[in-house]
Amino acid sequence: MTTITRPERARRQLDWAAEQLANCRLCPHRCAVNRRRGKRGRCGAGAGVAYFQEFVNFSEEPELSPSHALLLTGCNLRCTFCHTAERLHDPAPVRRLTVTGLRRLAARGRAEGARNLNLYGGEPFVNLPGLLALVADSAEADLPPLVWNTNLYCAAEALAALDGIPAVWLADFKFGNNRCAEKIAGATAYWDVLRERLLELYRREPGKLLLRHLVLPGHVTCCTEPVLRWVAANLPGVRVSLRTAYLVMPAARGEPDLGRFLTPAEVAQARRLAAELGLELVPGADSAPPAAAAPAAADRGSVLEAEFVLSPRGEIYLRNAPREMMRLARELAGQTPANANPPEHCPGVRQGAKRRPEPFLTTDDTDGHG
Ligand code: SF4
Repeated sequence: MTTITRPERARRQLDWAAEQLANCRLCPHRCAVNRRRGKRGRCGAGAGVAYFQEFVNFSEEPELSPSHALLLTGCNLRCTFCHTAERLHDPAPVRRLTVTGLRRLAARGRAEGARNLNLYGGEPFVNLPGLLALVADSAEADLPPLVWNTNLYCAAEALAALDGIPAVWLADFKFGNNRCAEKIAGATAYWDVLRERLLELYRREPGKLLLRHLVLPGHVTCCTEPVLRWVAANLPGVRVSLRTAYLVMPAARGEPDLGRFLTPAEVAQARRLAAELGLELVPGADSAPPAAAAPAAADRGSVLEAEFVLSPRGEIYLRNAPREMMRLARELAGQTPANANPPEHCPGVRQGAKRRPEPFLTTDDTDGHG
């Protein structure tokens, strides 16, 4: 049987991708702008692909870590709890992604132990035309397995255009109704769109689907419960990464629910429900805050400056830290590569947490706040 390579698959979609750039309807916002002529829609994405950060992340779900994170600009949602919002639409520090650059990044990720290239940001779907062009112009051997780390708020045609290209669909299912999605993320008909896309993915590639849900303070009943119940009823056997490491971002400060941390009762309620429903939870993802990421610091110089957040559980989160500081933090938390678990396990916080009942250092780049 002849295997169709990913570049070949991408090349078949280039005409469609070009049409989208000229009249963008890649997601339910259907902005209909001509991105080739410099117009920008709600997502702010242009015609090419740009990224603002990349690093090898040791704290993704165990089956993905270490994972080479590539944070793309542009997003079609406006979640008030987004970790990267301040950099998503900032044109200053971004770098354009070229075929040569992609090959170099992939080679460096491999050399640092990454098992895949994790495309997020931002939202990869709003960058779909440019990403298809990059894949089409690459050699199959140069492309690592691709993790499509997405909010899945996309058009059905966009999903179809990627058929056979990602190795893993890492999909966020954030809200359990349209009202919360509209209010928190500015997304209309979210609940309807997400269920349709998830059913399609499940029909096509169930084994490649890994679902994330971040439990939001004050939204266990209205969001977590309907999400988990729907998944249990409609996507049997799908692995679920239940995230409980919610952090308060500046945009959410002062809000009655999203302006606070999760209570232990909310965490327990979400976990209990997942257990009652018999969901296949990804080991290590539930209680583990995101950890041991080493954000690239090239564009930040060597200034030892970062943001710290102390959670009620005694965890210290480190944001936007330069590489030198991350190295030190990981050493302090017992997360050095030398004592990390082998790749099939998630090195980092869970391992360190067992040895250290004290609060530990971690980072917050990758727990789906976006
Ligand atoms: S991808 Fe961006 S420009 Fe296109 S429809 Fe969605 S928000 Fe609008």
